[in-house]
Amino acid sequence: MAISSLQGELKIYNSLTKKKELFKPINQGYVGMYVCGPTVYSNVHLGNVRTFTSFDLIYRYLRHLGYKVRYVRNITDAGHLENDADEGEDRIAKKARLDKIEPMEVVQMYTVDFHDILNKFNLLPPSIEPTATGHIIEQIEIIKTILDKGLAYEVNGSVYFDVLKYNETNHYGKLSGRKIEDLIHNTRTLDGQTDKKNPQDFALWKKAEPQHIMRWPSPWSDGFPGWHLECTAMSTKYLGKHFDIHGGGMDLKFPHHECEIAQSEASCEQTPVNYWMHANMLTLNGQKMAKSTGNYILPNEMFSGENDVLSKAFAPSVVRFFMLQAHYRSILDFSSTALEASEKGFYKLMDAINLIEKLTVSNTTEGLDITNWRTKCYNAMNDDFNSPILIAELFNAVKFINQVKDGKSMVSQEGLSLLRKTIHEFTFDILGLRNLSSSSNDSGDKLSDVVDVLINLRAEARANKDFALSDQIRDQLAAIGIQLKDGKDGTTFSTN
Ligand code: AMP
Ligand code: ZN
Repeated sequence: MAISSLQGELKIYNSLTKKKELFKPINQGYVGMYVCGPTVYSNVHLGNVRTFTSFDLIYRYLRHLGYKVRYVRNITDAGHLENDADEGEDRIAKKARLDKIEPMEVVQMYTVDFHDILNKFNLLPPSIEPTATGHIIEQIEIIKTILDKGLAYEVNGSVYFDVLKYNETNHYGKLSGRKIEDLIHNTRTLDGQTDKKNPQDFALWKKAEPQHIMRWPSPWSDGFPGWHLECTAMSTKYLGKHFDIHGGGMDLKFPHHECEIAQSEASCEQTPVNYWMHANMLTLNGQKMAKSTGNYILPNEMFSGENDVLSKAFAPSVVRFFMLQAHYRSILDFSSTALEASEKGFYKLMDAINLIEKLTVSNTTEGLDITNWRTKCYNAMNDDFNSPILIAELFNAVKFINQVKDGKSMVSQEGLSLLRKTIHEFTFDILGLRNLSSSSNDSGDKLSDVVDVLINLRAEARANKDFALSDQIRDQLAAIGIQLKDGKDGTTFSTN
């Protein structure tokens, strides 16, 4: 529902200005948001999920405020080389080579996995999910423009962005705070393996080696675009030269986002983004979760408990709740103990929400100023999407709900409606949690107990030669997807 008066109160921390700023969209009522998506060459790990969950929270809240949001999140399916200095093999081509399959099979497999995992965590799909390979023409056009402006150069079929030239009139490093002098001194000198004039220059187009399978024709060579370029091409195409929000993980600030700014300013002669937002990292043992170091957990391991660092399995909503208990700009360290604490809190919240339906109403409300509490929930989210403060507010409501149940506080019908509406909106629509009660936590065990009762009743019916009843039990269970199987050791069941 639109709460338009609150739209004007949202503050966003802008990584570009390093300040919290009042959010003013370019077009009133509309928001254009671009978030860098995954490179689909392996399964997403829990760290990746954290970043996308942070932006899901942001997307959900903007929508809740009544904004019409166009949320673009790309799929990187070409151009992302093994390291940031435009060296090494394309990550997707390498995986295809190792697994002896087509690059597009790699892309398909991990895109499906990515969607499946985000779905389990209840992330909303973006409005547009474009791919790098679907926008080669647009990328070539941008390179032509940058070449025309004299801010890129071609060498041996590859095209590089001229960082020093650009920096004469613009500011390379404005987002990351890196100084061009330091970059010049600290970027390692490339040992003649490169055609770059200066090591800090970055590739816009790379000529493909003969064995490189992912290649496209261009005015310069058969090759492929540099990684940073795809995001400039797709954000410009779908959100325009100038849009509201650009996000990604903190580790993308440099060089990826710095290069995006340079490319946009060089080709469109304008600052592309009003608010740069960066989500902080999920760590494990104090180190960033990353595929390359082996220091990571896969989401499916969370759901099955099959990882040595886990004491047990955790439901996706519990993991999501754990992530949202930290602010998106804070580092969050993963531990099974912390997850267990979150699980307790999560079910406490769910049980209180489910208890609302059973509360007895009074003539008046005592114990919580519900209107004021609702405002505090909005204040938390309006303060740069502060989900931990919001969750603390939700627990104030949990306390109140339990007090009403115990007869220590009172709630009127009107108060109860506002309480229910607010807690539902914030918990389910905005935090994106799914309603699981603590009793559904062990629903698997409960189901098997219930079916065991029916199996025993059926065995009794058969012993009494009441075959009509025994068949009825079997058939009715089958109708709801529970198959009984009679074996020599008794009856077992399976579900579909
Ligand atoms: P990639 O597929 O490597 O480009 O990563 C996809 C997204 O996940 C990017 O926005 C990264 O910044 C983010 N990311 C990678 N590692 C982590 C981590 N340990 N914690 C949070 N976000 C991460
Ligand atoms: Zn990007």
